[in-house]
Order: sequence, then structure tokens, then C-alpha cells
Amino acid sequence: MSANCLNEARRVMTICNSCRYCEGFCAVFPAMELRRTFTDQDLKYFANLCHNCRDCYYACQYAPPHTFDLNVPKSLAKLRLETYEESTWPAALSGLFRNNGRAVLLTTSFCVLALLLITAAFNGFSLPFETYTGEDNTFYQVLPYKAIVSSFMVIGLVVFFCLMKGFLKFWQATGESLKDFFNLRANITAVWDVLRLKYLDGGGYGCNYPDDKFSMIRRNFHHGVFYGFMLCFTSTAVAAFYDHFLSSPAPYPFFSLPVLLGTTGGISIVIGCGGLLFLKEKMDSAPADIQGLSMDVGFILLLFLTSFSGLLLLLLRATPFMGILLIIHVGIVAAFFILMPYGKFIHGFLRYAALVKNAREQLVNKTDKK
Ligand code: SF4
Ligand code: SF4
Repeated sequence: MSANCLNEARRVMTICNSCRYCEGFCAVFPAMELRRTFTDQDLKYFANLCHNCRDCYYACQYAPPHTFDLNVPKSLAKLRLETYEESTWPAALSGLFRNNGRAVLLTTSFCVLALLLITAAFNGFSLPFETYTGEDNTFYQVLPYKAIVSSFMVIGLVVFFCLMKGFLKFWQATGESLKDFFNLRANITAVWDVLRLKYLDGGGYGCNYPDDKFSMIRRNFHHGVFYGFMLCFTSTAVAAFYDHFLSSPAPYPFFSLPVLLGTTGGISIVIGCGGLLFLKEKMDSAPADIQGLSMDVGFILLLFLTSFSGLLLLLLRATPFMGILLIIHVGIVAAFFILMPYGKFIHGFLRYAALVKNAREQLVNKTDKK
């Protein structure tokens, strides 16, 4: 972790702590106000409490061109990227955060190509391009059921392990012990904060995003992505239940529960990701950390492609395109899973850890005041 980054965040927070004008915008300022000085651990925690709403940048009388050159969102975004790198497991892969666009492109191409070659090696090149209709319209003719399930189980377990290692590394880097995490009230508060995306409302008026006007648009798109992802996850779980317990394998009819959940979730993700990418294109770059931009865009694009290819597969599953579309979709999903611990996806875990720590602190503070 670079000393420059930490020193700049410390300078910024020290000035803010004597001003406190922005205390209603988010959780960073109330957390800052509980301290007179800031350790490295505090600063890493603040960096992940910040939702980059930018309200404090446009409200600040010391922002550039003032000689104090105070840019809270940018300073915390730079530090946040370093906390992602520091939390990476295995550490040797931390460089992927700064080269995320390239990592997304290479991993996705590799996964799609590898699937295509494996399918061709076992069944010949014509299989992905055959027409699948009626009773024969099954995905498992192209990609064998056992191969899909076992590959994703292995990838899922490895990815989950890496994400948990990263989460624990960050939690300890904020100065907390594992026992401190298991505070029921703090976790309930943090979950409620996540479900509402509480701090993206900038104290009630929204973010100053993509420009200096207050707006809820970023929060709404983010909600679309978050709840769309949850619906797709539920759809997969329901499909697994149908398959294992009701002996009813995919593909399912358009109006079945897994397809309705997956379609709604997929559309929600496509709209949310499309909207976030549009806002990124339009945003004021002054409060942004340009180095982290490739990671943000790479992740949003990959999630967009995952959902878009899934929807396309659903629409064209009884046509000659089904085989090739299935290979492309499964390849993109595999790349998405593999890159989860090495891209923006990790922000969900680190932000949650910061929200739990914040809820704990605020509960202790309230109790002390009584
Ligand atoms: S960002 Fe500026 S206005 Fe806001 S608390 Fe800090 S110094 Fe004050
Ligand atoms: S950018 Fe928004 S979330 Fe981040 S410190 Fe400023 S007001 Fe808080």
C-alpha cells in the first residue's frame, strides 16, 4: 500500500474533521467524527464506507481550484483500489485490478474458445450449429450436464474461498478481530443499509452524479443491477431444485418460475448496467480515480454481457443459433465467476465489512452517550 495514498487520505480527513459541513451526506463523516487522529486502519475503513456519491466534492469550499486542493471522493477512491489489491488472495493476482479491462477480454475469450474447442473435440464442429427443436431441444446435447455442473462447482468453491480470504484480510486490516464481526445487531443494520443502498441517497437528495446536480439515477440503476443479480441467483437455485428434486431438467417453458425469475433479473441487469455505463461516459472526471475506471467498466460490461447473452439464448433457443449461443453464454458466465475476486465484484464484500464495522461503532457510541 502506498504511503502517498494514505497520507493524502489522512490530510483530507484531518481538514474535513475541523469543518464537518458534509456530515449528513454519508457514513464516512459520522465515522470520522468519532476520531481525532486517523490510523491507516481507519483510513482503509473510510475508503470502503465511501460510495463515491461525490456530494462532498461539489459542496466543498476547499475543492480545486482552492489551494487546499481537497478532493475527498478521488482520495478515497485511490485508497479503496489499494485496499482491493491488498485484500487479494492469492496476492500474486492483485495486478489484475489495474488491468481489469484486459483481464476481462482475455479471460472471456479464453473461456468461450476453450468451450468451443472442447465441444468440437468430443462431438465435432457441426454440433454447436445444429438445429434443436421440440423434444430434442435440450442444452445438454451441446454441453453435457455432468461437465457443466462439476466445472461450475469447482470454480464456485475456489472463487468463494478466494472471496472469503479477501474479506477476512480486509476485515483484519481495519483493526478488527473475527469475533467482532459476529455482532447480530450490526449485521442486521448493515444488511438493511445494503438492501436500501442507503448511502447512495446522499442524505435524501441523491448523488451528484454524473455532474453537479443531485439525482437518484445512479442509485436506481445500481438497484436494478443488485436486485437483478439476486433474481438471477434465485432463478439458478430454483432450476437446480427442479432438476434434482423434481426430475425436470432445463430448458424450461417461458412461463415457468426459473425462466420468469431469470428473465426479469436479466432485463433488470441489462438496464442497470447499460445505465451505469452511460453515466460513466457522461460523468465529470475531476472527482474520479481514472486508474480504477478500467476495473469499473470491465466489471459492468462483463455483467451486462452475461445477462444479455442469457436473454438472447432464451429468445433463440429453438433455432440453429442455440448451440453456439449456449457456448458463448456459458463461457461468459465462467469468466464472470473466475474474475469475481479480482475485479469490482469484491467491492460488495469489502463495503459490507465496512458497513458492519460502522454499525458496531455507531451502536457503541449511542450506548456510551446514554
Ligand atoms: S469535504 Fe469540504 S466541505 Fe465537506 S467536510 Fe470536508 S472540508 Fe468540509
Ligand atoms: S463521495 Fe459521497 S460517500 Fe464518499 S465521502 Fe463524499 S459524501 Fe461520502
